[in-house]
Amino acid sequence: MMYVSTRGTAPKLTFEEAMMTGLARDGGLYVPEEIPTLSTDQIAAMAGASYEDVAFTVMKPFIGETFTDHEFRNLIDTAYAGFNHAARAPLKQLDNNHFLLELFHGPTLAFKDFAMQLIGQMFQASLTRSGNRITIVGATSGDTGSAAIEAFRGLSNVDVFILYPHGRVSEVQRRQMTTPTESNVHALALDGDFDDCQAALKDMFNDFDFRDGVNLAGVNSINWGRVLAQVVYFFTSAVAVGAPLRPVSFTVPTGNFGDIFAGYIAKRMGLPVDKLVIATNQNDILHRTLETGAQVKEGVTPSISPSMDIQVSSNFERALFEANGRDGATVAEQMADLKDKGAFTISQGAIEMLRETFASGRASEDETFHAITSELTRSGELLCPHSAVGVHVADAHQSATPMITLATAHPAKFPAAVEKATGLHPPLPPHMADLYERDERVTQVPNDLAALQTLIKERIKQ
Ligand SMILES: *Cc1c(COP(=O)(O)O)cnc(C)c1O
Repeated sequence: MMYVSTRGTAPKLTFEEAMMTGLARDGGLYVPEEIPTLSTDQIAAMAGASYEDVAFTVMKPFIGETFTDHEFRNLIDTAYAGFNHAARAPLKQLDNNHFLLELFHGPTLAFKDFAMQLIGQMFQASLTRSGNRITIVGATSGDTGSAAIEAFRGLSNVDVFILYPHGRVSEVQRRQMTTPTESNVHALALDGDFDDCQAALKDMFNDFDFRDGVNLAGVNSINWGRVLAQVVYFFTSAVAVGAPLRPVSFTVPTGNFGDIFAGYIAKRMGLPVDKLVIATNQNDILHRTLETGAQVKEGVTPSISPSMDIQVSSNFERALFEANGRDGATVAEQMADLKDKGAFTISQGAIEMLRETFASGRASEDETFHAITSELTRSGELLCPHSAVGVHVADAHQSATPMITLATAHPAKFPAAVEKATGLHPPLPPHMADLYERDERVTQVPNDLAALQTLIKERIKQ
């Protein structure tokens, strides 16, 4: 199994190389050369199996020779051992035909742990074998950063730098990033928004001297290893509500399009997925893209669902690559237009293909608050604001097909919004109960590439 770039000119890589690299050298994202499929019997056999069993079956065809079966199975088991729910991704019922997939039982209380815990294990195994030392730089709207720090803290052959937008993450998110004491962890508060953080990161990857000089590795949601790990829970949850015998739809609170793209891969692998519904907050570029056939960037307006406050949705490039018939040159032109002119258009054929698979909707701030309040009455479930965006949009897309909405974070990560909506203050779980008492350690940095690069080079010398 080899991986190709969505922009068509970077070299083909193995799974291990694609995972360790992150961004392709032509600026594109790696995708599998072919998408493997599972038979109906293989999917049916997932009923009643453990999360780890399903994870092995789903991911194995993608990893090639990178790990032996025995090694891979051990990495999976270790990755999910720290979750505090035996099912890992339990399913709750909200209403007739509407289910909630709780993805917040990992160590940092957001779905990012599913991918990050596993790639932490896979990176470590690969680095132990090669003896290499790497510098991980990540950009975060809040949850990727804490999940990455949790996965890589204390490892001897890794430095991890996390760029987050200063003043634009929740206090719990910030404290999760600034309170770890390990010296290989570096929290950087950037003067700018999440798109600025992501742009700085992309510029570092495109500066090959710097990239090779520090052995830069990326664990942002563009990393194929992360997308892959997220494919698994689409299978476990769909099978729990009747797949492969009946189709299932999903609603996914969406920012960088990584999570929902994993759902698309599940569908291509043979899972009977009817619709994949993109749920956005007021930063609704993806909803507008699907409606109009043009992607037009606007400013980011901070919301109560900060992990989705984004205008440049990196993984959308992967869907575009498929919709364009895997024509990397067209994708490269569209991405250049987005960077230079803030907009690009999608061909008629490609937008029709996208609309066959994806639907979309948005939730305003008021609608998000209202969804938190009314879900507490309807089912007793306390939603985080991101999951509430999902539930609001899913309710508008109900049909005879079962709908599974992804709950992407624990309500205790966003206590202010939840309390405002319900009067309830969701408590942090015991392992994080003293978060507010721990000392914070963070460096405020300007939105300036050269300054950032200097700081990183100095820190890794120590
Ligand atoms: C990251 C995140 C999202 C968005 O996921 P993408 O894969 O970027 O689309 C939604 N909700 C929460 C809580 C997140 O942390």
